Amino acid sequence: MDSDSDKTQTLPQRINLLGLSAEKMAGFFEGLGEKRFRANQLLKWIHQRGVDDFSLMTDLSRSLRDRLAEVAEIRAPEVVSVHDSADGTRKWLIRTDGGECIETVYIPSADRGTLCVSSQIGCKLDCSFCATGKQGFNRNLSTAEIIGQLWIAVKSFRSFGPREDRAVSNVVMMGMGEPLMNFDNVVDAMNLMMDDCAYGLSKRRVTLSTAGVVPALDALGDVTDVSLAISLHAANDALRNELVPINRKYPIASLLDSARRYLDKLPDSHRKITVEYTLIDQVNDRPEQARELAELLKVLPCKINLIPFNPFSGSGYRRVSNNALNRFKDILVEAGYTVTVRTTRGDDIAAACGQLAGDFNDKTRRKERYLRRLDEQQPVRIVGQ
Ligand code: SAH
Repeated sequence: MDSDSDKTQTLPQRINLLGLSAEKMAGFFEGLGEKRFRANQLLKWIHQRGVDDFSLMTDLSRSLRDRLAEVAEIRAPEVVSVHDSADGTRKWLIRTDGGECIETVYIPSADRGTLCVSSQIGCKLDCSFCATGKQGFNRNLSTAEIIGQLWIAVKSFRSFGPREDRAVSNVVMMGMGEPLMNFDNVVDAMNLMMDDCAYGLSKRRVTLSTAGVVPALDALGDVTDVSLAISLHAANDALRNELVPINRKYPIASLLDSARRYLDKLPDSHRKITVEYTLIDQVNDRPEQARELAELLKVLPCKINLIPFNPFSGSGYRRVSNNALNRFKDILVEAGYTVTVRTTRGDDIAAACGQLAGDFNDKTRRKERYLRRLDEQQPVRIVGQ
């Protein structure tokens, strides 16, 4: 028998501690015959000091460090490239096990630094205006791959340490993928984001955004109290069925009911849902559609985030005009809503909403090239017209 292949078969798989929630880390130490409180030490080394080498963990005995190095590892996904935008936005292209790439984006502003984290490689939902959906679905990210994006970002700013001078103050699960379709791993990762032994972010500064997977949203309220954003984009089912196909399964009324139930489960009665509405030229940007939205949302404590559509090759849609955007916004403000407009950031490095495609395999690249060719084709002229 070939001795090399024999060796790979018998080598035990080392467990990646980067992806263990506090509870699972405690269980891991128990399994080693150690005290559960070791979990807190490990979490601090990994997530607060950015250490991935057991030999540096000086408050653990030499024998425990050796044991850990035998059975475990701390392994973040590999950074392929880092792109800095003129406006301060930074994008990481990150290679996961298996070779596919995901993207993570950091968006600084005057009062916060927001990290936009991916939850899946590709996406199953295929919203008509989203580049991620166009690449199809590959797989769910592991907890280590999700929290690893935050670990990588924090490390790149060298800002492990006291809360005050953190570069990353907020996390939004608004990168590639539908977080509620990777429920357990996303919940574990968000728990690490909020754990005082890890990143210690407040529940108000961690936001999950969903296109509306209603049963999973109902389950979410039983296990966490992070901030919630829902991707609405249309105020009636006919249009939303076209833009967000999962609406055919869970129509608007059921999504709004579920969002309302999520709010009702929160201990604090002042919290609001963020309603995301991507404005697309001539599709969902008309004044009567703004009025319809204002009417629809009366039942839900919410604020509205308008996102001008970010074009990508082959989308077939155009960005909303500034006039239509302002008109739409004014109608909502007059109806009493708090409205924010998401300014396009990181456009020069293809880091804006809906532009994250990870370019993860040859098939994607072929599809991109094909769509680009379609884009470039001249319209067919019909003789005689
Ligand atoms: N699947 C989740 C998170 C992904 S995207 C969700 O649907 O909420 C985060 C936000 O960006 C969503 O509101 C999404 O609809 C929006 N978005 C996607 N593509 C976009 C594009 N090309 N331009 C503007 N916003 C886009």
